[in-house]
Amino acid sequence: MASRYIRRTNFWACRIDNNFSVTFKAILRCRPVLQAAICRRMKDGTTIDLWLDPWLGSRSLLEILGGQLDREAGRGLTCSRIIRDGGWRPEGYPFTAQLAAEIHTISIDASQTEDSWSWAGPGTGGGSGLFCFRSCYDLVRIHHDQAEEVDFIWGKGVARKMQLCAYRLLHGILMTRDRPIRFGMQISDAKCVLCNDEDESMGHLFFGCPVSWHIWTEQCAQLRGGVGMDRDIRSILSWIRGYRGRDPGWARRARVRLAASVWHIWKERNRRIFEGLTTPLLKFYII
Ligand SMILES: [Zn+2]
Repeated sequence: MASRYIRRTNFWACRIDNNFSVTFKAILRCRPVLQAAICRRMKDGTTIDLWLDPWLGSRSLLEILGGQLDREAGRGLTCSRIIRDGGWRPEGYPFTAQLAAEIHTISIDASQTEDSWSWAGPGTGGGSGLFCFRSCYDLVRIHHDQAEEVDFIWGKGVARKMQLCAYRLLHGILMTRDRPIRFGMQISDAKCVLCNDEDESMGHLFFGCPVSWHIWTEQCAQLRGGVGMDRDIRSILSWIRGYRGRDPGWARRARVRLAASVWHIWKERNRRIFEGLTTPLLKFYII
């Protein structure tokens, strides 16, 4: 990745380009999160970019100085420029007194063999500074209320077939038409069979498609007088959760309707694809 994508820049300053691989773009998007847990540990500064690497308490000088910095003039300078005889010598650079004082608080660890990265993610107490995959995963993953999800999938009143469908939707493993394409397979028709307009994906089929969205809003109208919702399963779950304390009976019914709606949308999609049959929209409503 270093030789292919960031030859003329630095990982932290690299701009996301459409030509980058999906994986590398995802890694770059994690930078603000990762930056909170990573820092350069200084030996002599010869491998640490003065402006771009996060060495000032997880921040880079570029981040601190922003627009004041002439990027071209500073390109390629390392921290060794402001270290002499094992101490900081930031004089001669356009640092404010406050920034210079901050630099002096960074320890230079002469006992190290070379400059290194230090990791301080969640769950890595003890200050070893060693990277740990579990800690990194905990940092970048999206935290959800698991109790709500478990309740939604496995709670009372939801038929087993609907539970299974809801589980697969929540975990993103329903085989919509975009998935075989992503695995490199050729399929003759990638369109959503409900609207015949856009390509089918889980996001589109259940929430983006005007047909399924019409079903959600009907369900909503029957439940709470047409409350607006964000178009994804977790947002809808958290919307329902908001009512749990005030009206647990309603929250339970909403959860059952949600699971049933997911299942009926999936069932209708399969009927249209595999049996060539279409249910009139009015008969589509569930309860
Ligand atoms: Zn559609």
